[in-house]
Amino acid sequence: MNHYGESEFEGVDLRSASSFAGVPDEFQRLWTPHRLAYIENGQQPPEADCPFCLAPEMSDEEGLIVHRGTHAFVLLNLYPYNSGHLLVCPYRHVAMYDDATVEETAEIASLTQEAMRVLKKVSCNDGYNIGMNQGRVAGAGIADHLHQHVVPRWATDSNFFPIIAKSKAVTALLGDVRNAIAQAWPKAN
Ligand SMILES: [Zn+2]
Repeated sequence: MNHYGESEFEGVDLRSASSFAGVPDEFQRLWTPHRLAYIENGQQPPEADCPFCLAPEMSDEEGLIVHRGTHAFVLLNLYPYNSGHLLVCPYRHVAMYDDATVEETAEIASLTQEAMRVLKKVSCNDGYNIGMNQGRVAGAGIADHLHQHVVPRWATDSNFFPIIAKSKAVTALLGDVRNAIAQAWPKAN
């Protein structure tokens, strides 16, 4: 059955692709040439514009910082997977985990643990995703400045939005979440 009108393809040179070169397999292809610009240019800002270098120079509220340590600090991700998505970063602009000093590594670890405790207290989450994407090829959005993700998870936080619409429903505003986490973070004596 022809779903198109009689004159739909009038004057158009139509040929079946079955005779074209190629080796078929079981996959469908989504051709997305509009994404080429993103892939070619990447998302990587020059070091002078590195958001994790700039954030500590701002106020806590502006920089979305919830805690400043000695060698590392904790801030909210501007692009959260979930409300309360935190990033633990060294102050130094280093890319890889094995570039971090012993002191930085220890503080990133202890701040990650503290972030878990504070998130649990503030948001009663059921679990966490914790980890680092190392290198652009591994999915790091800001590959040049080391950052550990701490993402709170709830049993009911998944839905179809991320899959069908590349969208994530986030239920709380960043400023409100930052205030709640910063206030709950234990103060040094
Ligand atoms: Zn940086």
